[in-house]
Amino acid sequence: MKKEYDYLIVGSGLYAAVFARCAMDKGKKVLVVERRPHIAGNIYTEKIEDIDVHIYGAHILHTNNKEVWDYVSRFATFNRYTNSPIANYKGTLYNLPFNMNTFYAMWHVTTPQEAMQIIEQQRKEAGIANPRNLEEQAISLVGRDIYNILIKDYTEKQWGRACTELPANIIKRLPVRFTFDNNYFNALYQGIPVEGYTAMIENMFKGAEIRLNCDYLKEKSQLDALADKVLYTGAIDEYFNYSLGTLEYRSVRFETEVLDTPNYQGNAVFNYTDADTPYTRIIEHKHFVFGTQPKTVISREYSAEWKKGLEPYYPVNDERNQKLYASYRELAEKEPGVIFGGRLGEYKYYDMDKVIEVALAKAQEVL
Ligand code: UDP
Repeated sequence: MKKEYDYLIVGSGLYAAVFARCAMDKGKKVLVVERRPHIAGNIYTEKIEDIDVHIYGAHILHTNNKEVWDYVSRFATFNRYTNSPIANYKGTLYNLPFNMNTFYAMWHVTTPQEAMQIIEQQRKEAGIANPRNLEEQAISLVGRDIYNILIKDYTEKQWGRACTELPANIIKRLPVRFTFDNNYFNALYQGIPVEGYTAMIENMFKGAEIRLNCDYLKEKSQLDALADKVLYTGAIDEYFNYSLGTLEYRSVRFETEVLDTPNYQGNAVFNYTDADTPYTRIIEHKHFVFGTQPKTVISREYSAEWKKGLEPYYPVNDERNQKLYASYRELAEKEPGVIFGGRLGEYKYYDMDKVIEVALAKAQEVL
């Protein structure tokens, strides 16, 4: 017998919204269930003092994929924001990502040749042929000075693990450039929705029935009975009631404050790369959209190990967790009519553009 909905979409973040949109565009009927009191997952933004605040951490859409850019542009107008974080190490400031401005501040070198020479010498001294972990990868990319001042403590704060115990690929996200270019991302397209991410996700879900404060796993059988198929974007280990063990995540706690000043730090992102500062970064939200409000809102970001009851943010894709995930993946293959998708469903440290790519591909495959 045909059920009331074609798809039950569990979660309302970016993956869910892209998939739901594609399904509706193909004439499918969808029901979205979200356990939070709002949609948009971790890209949710909320107005405080008329400023869009990234409640679950800053998100900057950047991509080289024109298809992704054209797709999101259907639902939001993006501004020209370019991410250029500044690192504060014990009161000294450095530009990120690692580029000629950083090398000048670090060594007073003024030419690419001089910078390359220093890095090359530090690489040689370290004698690493095949980087096996984040520390070795970082030193072979940028040398020991930059590793010590801009990478080691920041990374260990963020991940709560020694850099020697972290996978090398985390650091490969960061560009190294021998030009004076502070653009954090190597991306053709980059920006922030002028009206906030929540409005963008709302537009994507137009026409869908959405139930907020609805915890799928608590009402699974009743909800499953309503739809032919399920897209599940929650944590994969939680779906299986942690039966094989818990996957590790890093969680983040935000200390958000309204300040009675129009400009607190002069930049959207300041990273604190020393070990003594307890937070990893301070976000000043208005600068993402060139805000001119009389007040400002800042969020200090504290990284913490995830435990039940906290929000899972970053999957910890080390060997132990990847193995465990593979076992959950096997269980997932045996769940008839259920698609697991997104950062939590696939246990993957996804950038937003990749989420959109995989959701579009999945939609094309199954719809
Ligand atoms: N990173 C670092 N120093 C910095 C910024 C980043 O060492 O000042 C490293 C760190 O290992 C981090 C990774 O780069 O885990 C990715 O950082 P990014 O801020 O790009 O990640 P996000 O939290 O924004 O996804």
